[in-house]
Amino acid sequence: EARIIPRDQHPISRKQISRAALNVLYGLHEQGFQAFLVGGCLRDLLCGREPKDFDVVTDATPEQVQRLFKRSRIIGRRFQIVHVRFGREVIEVSTFRAFQRDDQELDRDQHSAHEETGLVLRDNTWGSIEEDALRRDFTINALYYNIADFALYDFVGSRRAIERGEISLIGDPEQRYREDPVRMLRAARFAAKLGFRLDQKASRKIPELAELLLQVPPARLFDEVLKLFLSGHARASMQQLQDLGLFHFLFPETDRSLKGPQGKVWEKLILAAMDNTDRRLAQDKPVTPAFIFAVLLWPVTVARLEKLRADGMPPAPALHKAAGWALNQQVQHTAIPRRFSTVMREMWDLQDRLPRRGGRRAEALVQHPRFRAAYDFLLLREQAGELPAGLGDWWTRYQDADEDQREAMVQALG
Ligand code: ATP
Ligand code: MG
Repeated sequence: EARIIPRDQHPISRKQISRAALNVLYGLHEQGFQAFLVGGCLRDLLCGREPKDFDVVTDATPEQVQRLFKRSRIIGRRFQIVHVRFGREVIEVSTFRAFQRDDQELDRDQHSAHEETGLVLRDNTWGSIEEDALRRDFTINALYYNIADFALYDFVGSRRAIERGEISLIGDPEQRYREDPVRMLRAARFAAKLGFRLDQKASRKIPELAELLLQVPPARLFDEVLKLFLSGHARASMQQLQDLGLFHFLFPETDRSLKGPQGKVWEKLILAAMDNTDRRLAQDKPVTPAFIFAVLLWPVTVARLEKLRADGMPPAPALHKAAGWALNQQVQHTAIPRRFSTVMREMWDLQDRLPRRGGRRAEALVQHPRFRAAYDFLLLREQAGELPAGLGDWWTRYQDADEDQREAMVQALG
């Protein structure tokens, strides 16, 4: 049933494939195994983009793959795959399979049906590559490139879907989203990243199934949020997540703030931060999850802070407590590793300290390891109209000033 697209009828050339991926493909092929590139890398190449990484599938078992490559190890993450290392590059090699081993994705009925038919991986590779295609999420992600003949193998209309820029699920959308709700986020992400649109069947069920995200482990959602917001298409991702009704189930408290009386300001702040992140990535500048999370949870912290202040708590402890509350709410949805939440707290803390510049304070503040992040954050808050402009500009000038000028600036504060 595969549509085989021979080498002279598609544009993918070995020159576009990394050295490491070619080594793995040829290494397997020379030992008599089948070896294909699959999924995202082919999709990206057909779109004229440079793939983030190359994934390989084979009929060799993980053990056989491991024996073949010196610097390789079996990873038991979501299902058994082998990481093969060449220099700084890691190639993921997985064995053709019909169903993912992940509990979330393992439908019990399917599993027993599978047991009954008793398919054995090594015995029926053709059948199994096709099954491998059918268990993938979207038609755009299910194309194969065979190193034996350089042909593309298309089981589900992948090429056409990629050319049309259309995201469709393989199989019944509701069933596929229920098996693994993260696919809803992946749909939003590919739409944002590639400028594709979801077909009607893919998008229609999302608003009503979005709440299934509440059952996904927070650590996995954290990983997905990073891919959505720290890959150079944060603003487009945000737009998709909101349009599809997914954002609420990733950041419920932030969503509440966005729908509240200050909503316009918070939206401006968040979108400004996302533009900022996208711009930095386009310029190959470093970005950190702490910054984007600090911005996303700032409206939540502020709302809580205002409440605690109204109850009479002094500013510093109120901020501390509000920050703790915001983080606590959020980690029930997306994990936030400690190394990031620590930085977030420091950035928030500095928002309270940046106005107080008298004496030696300004000098101490610019030395703070989080000063730069906190200053960038302050500028965004002013830009969004959360704060009147002025303080940010003072700090801009302070950083540019020499020692004498700095002293004069502090004196002038009175
Ligand atoms: P990118 O690497 O740009 O994020 P990708 O498509 O390569 O995109 P990966 O997460 O690297 O995405 O997954 C590799 C391939 O594995 C996908 O192309 C898809 O075929 C399959 N896949 C990944 N996640 C799922 C899932 N949740 N359900 C079904 N198939 C999946
Ligand atoms: Mg990938």
